Amino acid sequence: MIWTQLSFITIFLNIIWGVFDIFIMTYVFYKFYQILAQTKAVQVIKGLFFFIIIYVLSRFFELEIFSWLLDQIAGVVVIAIIVLFQPELRRVLTKLGQSNWISGFIKKNPKDLTYILKAIENFHIRQIGALIAFERNVGLKNIVESGTVLNSKISTSLLVTLFTYKTPLHDGAVIIKNDQIVAAGCFLPLSEASWAGHSFGTRHRAALGLAEESDAVIVIVSEETGKVSLAYDGKIYTNYDMSLLRKDLSTLLGYEEGEIEVFEDEKNGQ
Ligand code: ATP
Ligand code: MG
Repeated sequence: MIWTQLSFITIFLNIIWGVFDIFIMTYVFYKFYQILAQTKAVQVIKGLFFFIIIYVLSRFFELEIFSWLLDQIAGVVVIAIIVLFQPELRRVLTKLGQSNWISGFIKKNPKDLTYILKAIENFHIRQIGALIAFERNVGLKNIVESGTVLNSKISTSLLVTLFTYKTPLHDGAVIIKNDQIVAAGCFLPLSEASWAGHSFGTRHRAALGLAEESDAVIVIVSEETGKVSLAYDGKIYTNYDMSLLRKDLSTLLGYEEGEIEVFEDEKNGQ
């Protein structure tokens, strides 16, 4: 009797284990798909799937010369995939290497975010194109080096000056790290997501590109419409109003939202 009960428990545990196994596999594949979706990866996966079917069929029908040829191609395909997916692989590896402990020690001055928000509001109202990237855990050294290094204190007037049309540094992005404007006129990597090419101009695609390759948070103000957008974690969110921007930026950059000044026109609901 005890043996029957024991074997019943073993079978039951086996089934649970099997379900767990399938669950993990499904989750891993789903996450993998999420990371790769909306990039060229989807097309490549389709191609790869086609290749595998042809490969299996040629083995099945014992087409020896064709199988030999496919064997040779398979080696090249592996290298091609690594080269093609280099940005995606870099993104995944960067995410794995991120840690919060260093930035946790730095006390953020809420005045800095107030100054930045005032500048953004100014761009929004006057329809001045702007691109501001906030460095978080992943270093942006290469990007800083593509522009002009400033290492200056954050101020509304400096930000407004930097994005003023026809001045030497207005093109490109400003990079902010902790309590400093590190650089201006920086070149950001353009997103290669095909949908982004149809929906956005280069300023927005540049913001999305950096959000795909790093954990930076990027604010974009459109020169054409004055609309404010925010890009982070490989996504772009458009049409922000100032109070939502204050809320989201505080959370993403680790400021106490309650300490950030609320502007007069925001209070009046404008
Ligand atoms: P807007 O809504 O402001 O017109 P957009 O997304 O339509 O923006 P464009 O009109 O192509 O984009 O904006 C061009 C400006 O975007 C450039 O003058 C430059 O300042 C900025 N820009 C374009 N590409 C990059 C890049 N790779 N890195 C940084 N800034 C860039
Ligand atoms: Mg445009």
